[in-house]
Amino acid sequence: MAELTLSIKPDTLTLSREHRRIVAFDREGRWTTVFVDGVAYQRGLSGQVLEKALQPENGGLRKRLRALSPEERARLAEMTAELAGEARLRLERGDGLLRWELPPLVARVLEEAALRPEALALPWLERALAWDGARLEGDARRFLDVYQPISILPPDQYRAVYLQATSGCSYNKCSFCDLYRDRRFAMKTVEEFRRHVEAVRDFLGRTALGRRTLFLGDGNALMAPTDRLLHWMETASSVFPLAPGATIAERLRYVESHPGSYEGFYIFQDLFHTREKPVAELQALAAHGLRRVYLGVETGSEALSRFLHKPGRPSYALQAVRNLHRAGLAVGLILLLGAGGSAYAAEHVVQTADLLNRMELGPDDLIYYSPIVEIPGLPYQQAMDAEGIRRLDEAELEEQRRLLDAAIRAPRWPRGPRRSLYDIREFVY
Ligand code: SF4
Repeated sequence: MAELTLSIKPDTLTLSREHRRIVAFDREGRWTTVFVDGVAYQRGLSGQVLEKALQPENGGLRKRLRALSPEERARLAEMTAELAGEARLRLERGDGLLRWELPPLVARVLEEAALRPEALALPWLERALAWDGARLEGDARRFLDVYQPISILPPDQYRAVYLQATSGCSYNKCSFCDLYRDRRFAMKTVEEFRRHVEAVRDFLGRTALGRRTLFLGDGNALMAPTDRLLHWMETASSVFPLAPGATIAERLRYVESHPGSYEGFYIFQDLFHTREKPVAELQALAAHGLRRVYLGVETGSEALSRFLHKPGRPSYALQAVRNLHRAGLAVGLILLLGAGGSAYAAEHVVQTADLLNRMELGPDDLIYYSPIVEIPGLPYQQAMDAEGIRRLDEAELEEQRRLLDAAIRAPRWPRGPRRSLYDIREFVY
């Protein structure tokens, strides 16, 4: 019989049959990740499942991403239930081929309570077994009662508790972006937001305990009047309490050992409105738990920014970042790789690095390199075609990332910002 490993983290129970078949369940028992035969599957709370596989191409490996059909999702749900059923049976029989992996925090909690790991694992498996394919699909429908589709998050916030204070993007005209073209921008009233927060709490159940931050969505939520933002944050933190601590790192340590507390609020905003928000108001937001603002800078090139129909000018990013830093807030800067193809490649690298080199970025700040995803029919594609601009291939995109990374002089983490890839196609919530 194959060895089965059970790993218990505060937010995840993972079963692994000889590392060839792996399933992770959140605290409510919904499966979140499956790995089988070299292919990974990620399930979001929305019920969407993304398949991620590496396939050979041109002598290398290329990541293939694909959304699964309802039938495929049902088959995966059966597989996760089969493994959970096997684990339960083997736990009940005291099978010698079971192996435990317990991080120090979980081991200490068990020791202090004089409990064996089975006492945590068995009820967790019972919850997992209650999620058959039909219930999971019903849960996905319930998700749509709580949320409008969640279009995007920055990668470090993929596992945030998402709170939809606004819907859509107040601008919605960048030529390459279709994230919110399905909806008009709207802000929730204080009362609507309170009901939404309670609905999120009820929907997430124990799953909320494994999440560490609160994200105020959708796009450009920071443009709401500051008193409305403060009300939203007070309402949210009365349901999802904030951790004490002076720094992000300190608060995250607290959250690790106190599931059900949250490090703080995170939010998207465009350059124009961020620059306009007075520092005193940003300070009030920081005092209420706002930690980092994500800015779609995209490029430092004025010409490319116009080509992308961005609101404001790249130079606005300087003032926006200075104001945010003065208020004690961190920034997440998103740069578009490959934007404008070969026509803009050289100035995009030089001017973007020049812009970022005029900022004083610190260890709580982030730089994301996000390859542009071309959506058929959007103005960006039409303009690229009309002007006969050549798109960058994979190798050129990688080279552009390398050049930008080398030209940005901010020190490397932990003295400067973290830098990483942001492939928006991998997002699922
Ligand atoms: S501001 Fe951001 S979310 Fe809005 S259209 Fe532009 S890229 Fe999309």
